[in-house]
Amino acid sequence: MGKETGFLEYERKDRTYADPRERVRHYKEFVVPHPEPDLRLQAARCMNCGIPYCHNGCPVNNLIPDWNHLVYEADWKNALENLHSTNNFPEFTGRICPAPCEAACTLNIVDQPVTIKSIECAIVDRGWNEGWIVPEPPARKTGKRVAVVGSGPAGLACAQQLARVGHSVTVFEKSDRLGGLLRYGIPDFKMEKHLINRRAVQMEAEGVTFKTSTEVGVDVSFASLRDNFDAVVLAGGAEEPRQLLIPGAELPGVRLAMEFLTQQNKRNAGDDEVRAAPRGSLVATGKKVVVIGGGDTGSDCVGTSNRQGAESVVQLEIMPQPPERENKALTWPHWPLKLRTSSSHEEGVERDWAVLTKRVAGEGGEVTGLECVRVEWNDGRMEEIAGSEFTIPADLILLAMGFTGPRKAGLLEQAGVEFDARGNVAADTVRYATSEANVFACGDMRRGQSLVVWAIREGRQAARAVDEALMGVSELPR
Ligand SMILES: Cc1cc2nc3c(=O)[nH]c(=O)nc-3n(C[C@H](O)[C@H](O)[C@H](O)COP(=O)(O)OP(=O)(O)OC[C@H]3O[C@@H](n4cnc5c(N)ncnc54)[C@H](O)[C@@H]3O)c2cc1C
Ligand code: SF4
Repeated sequence: MGKETGFLEYERKDRTYADPRERVRHYKEFVVPHPEPDLRLQAARCMNCGIPYCHNGCPVNNLIPDWNHLVYEADWKNALENLHSTNNFPEFTGRICPAPCEAACTLNIVDQPVTIKSIECAIVDRGWNEGWIVPEPPARKTGKRVAVVGSGPAGLACAQQLARVGHSVTVFEKSDRLGGLLRYGIPDFKMEKHLINRRAVQMEAEGVTFKTSTEVGVDVSFASLRDNFDAVVLAGGAEEPRQLLIPGAELPGVRLAMEFLTQQNKRNAGDDEVRAAPRGSLVATGKKVVVIGGGDTGSDCVGTSNRQGAESVVQLEIMPQPPERENKALTWPHWPLKLRTSSSHEEGVERDWAVLTKRVAGEGGEVTGLECVRVEWNDGRMEEIAGSEFTIPADLILLAMGFTGPRKAGLLEQAGVEFDARGNVAADTVRYATSEANVFACGDMRRGQSLVVWAIREGRQAARAVDEALMGVSELPR
């Protein structure tokens, strides 16, 4: 433990953001990192608890008090090694994880959790800046070949772990660039994409082969993977969007959030409009935008709409507004349901809760508004409030209502795997084995829509399961 009295002496002080008026003019990251002396004092706040609840909160089981101590001691290199022992890509989670570890931190009982996520990010950013993060190729090859389908965080973590123990790994990705939702869902202002590119370079040097613009089930058959590889890992995400089933939803101004976000991410990557938007440009410039869905995807649509110069942005959520502050006695150390205001919300949006959408109004084939009604929730049951109908003027309606599970057509139909009751690929979290021999599944394709940190955990654990299945034993961590 760095300093016994640190938590008594120093207040929690987190990273700050650039001014919203300035940051909405660009798509770059805008978090202002801690100066090093401040960060070390923040690390000194860690109490090295007898039961470190932060560990339980963290899906990858980061050894948080250990690296807090090392940062306080300015032993950055060992802090990096420790961090990498549980997480392949801390620069991703250090930027976009909702940080369940901080919710679980003992100091969160008094709303002063250690700034774990900022410390994580600083350790790994420093590692890259100092040139400490280099390829870790295996000492010897096993002669086994593994195909990983999907290059999101689950597929990348799985591929890196497997390559490092000597398997020959090929990652198949249907998109033109690697990264899954990290690349084309999450906007650059939350996470810039050069972070993915440099990991890909590292992984190639470790022996991973990437095949982009290659959809398994279309460009190559699943049968050919079976024939040419000893194991196949399905890490294709949960791509099936929840649809809006109301009259008028077929109008061209009602669009999926992922189409909107992908186009902007491609423009940011330097693609021209033909490549970024082959089926026509979808932009919010000068439009009255309504975003349906109150989660991360919806929030990313808000931030992107404001950057594109929308006239107004409204975000709707069907669930009631959660409390500003949780009841710690009931929720800690678990993830609490409470009002979350993202940096995108701070940039300008009107948020509304407990709203049910009823009909998209249109004129001459164009969207003109969204007809809604307020609802009441009692014991999990929703009831419309009579007389509360209202219409929001709109030119563009973005659907950010989540994903119902993995796409079945193509890959999964050809693989012939069984599904669980929720429609995800059935596999447990010990063997990660599907109903088909030597076919494994992890990430959102197995667990349903989730978080990057869960995808990394599953990718790592699935790698161990594959290694064990191929070699009889595995030294990879779970
Ligand atoms: C807009 C948005 C914002 C989000 N923001 C956050 C956030 O801030 N923090 C957070 O923790 N989580 C966030 N999430 C959730 C997070 O991105 C996902 O949980 C995570 O990316 C899942 O990882 P994955 O590897 O399982 O799947 P994905 O990231 O979905 O990757 C799957 C990949 O498989 C590819 N693929 C699918 N089928 C095939 C095939 N047949 N052949 C070849 N390739 C195929 C896809 O093209 C894709 O690249 C967000 C999600 C969205 C949509
Ligand atoms: S729970 Fe908080 S204070 Fe305790 S060890 Fe973890 S980070 Fe440190």
